[in-house]
Amino acid sequence: MEKRRIACFLAAICAAALLCACAPQKAEETFLAMDTVMSVTVYGENAQEAASACRAETERLEALLSVTDEQSAVYAINHAEGQPTETDGELARLLSRVLELCGRTEGALDVTIYPAVRAWGFTDGEYRVPSEAELAELLTRVDYSAVSVRDGTVTLPAGAELDLGSTAKGYAGDRLAELLSGMGIESAILDLGHNIQLIGTKPDGSSWVIAVQSPFGGDYAGTLSVSSCAVVTSGGYERFFTDENGCVHHHIIDPATGHSADSGIASATIIGKSGLVCDALSTAVYVMGAERAAELWRASDDFEMVLILSDGSLAVTEGIAPAFTPADENAEITVVTR
Ligand code: AMP
Ligand code: MG
Repeated sequence: MEKRRIACFLAAICAAALLCACAPQKAEETFLAMDTVMSVTVYGENAQEAASACRAETERLEALLSVTDEQSAVYAINHAEGQPTETDGELARLLSRVLELCGRTEGALDVTIYPAVRAWGFTDGEYRVPSEAELAELLTRVDYSAVSVRDGTVTLPAGAELDLGSTAKGYAGDRLAELLSGMGIESAILDLGHNIQLIGTKPDGSSWVIAVQSPFGGDYAGTLSVSSCAVVTSGGYERFFTDENGCVHHHIIDPATGHSADSGIASATIIGKSGLVCDALSTAVYVMGAERAAELWRASDDFEMVLILSDGSLAVTEGIAPAFTPADENAEITVVTR
């Protein structure tokens, strides 16, 4: 009897050891950065070290790119009053790429939108409705094409201010993906607040299943079965306030009007290899509306999209349609083709 108990005990230890040997190490880290809760889950050897490195890298980028931190490189540029600012090389390179994306979206993405975003109170939460005259004056300062980046020196016209809120998390996704790959990590999911960056597949080799949130509250709108890519969503439902007349104003501003974008899109989810491109385009597509977004997609080969329109219908580009499963099997879905 005693022998049998010992044998069972040894067998249990062996099974546990075998399980430990097979299951990859897993580490999770949750932290607040860039105004949102982020959570990274990393699998593989050194998982904990890698997850901690992700947190440190995100905090480094926040310190560089924050619009409100008086020590940040962006803050210094924004307060140069028209004078050239010699800036951090990484920021100069990022800004050049963001300016390209502003051009590619014909200014639907405008990295100089900050004066308008601040006037509505989206920076400090002191929400207000600016007058048309105030918005008209602020829009004279919004023009990405007036930003110059040359040899690490950035010059803005006096009164212009940068806001990388539309792209910083996506860029962080790319940086973290590089960092993890350099540490030999082949499987990780980085949830950077509406910005998902996927490293490889799940540890068992299957695709990750990512929920696309419903912009109308309640359950999710569908799921995406994907791997090794970024999935980034923009939607007015993420940050908004209701004014005394019952009008809702949200944080994605149409640079053409200075008001919250009202293009008929309730949420724009962009899928692609680059977190930066997906983040920039999710904001821009939300401003552009479904038709212009489809034209942009037809002229591009670096992203796919799932649009949820204000009437509840969906538009899904053909490259991602097979990977998308709507939560409601009766949902009205248009597949956008080339
Ligand atoms: P996202 O959540 O990525 O769509 O980014 C929204 C954030 O980007 C806002 O909170 C603003 O800080 C900033 N933003 C708002 N409208 C624009 C715009 N049209 N172009 C660039 N940045 C914007
Ligand atoms: Mg964005």
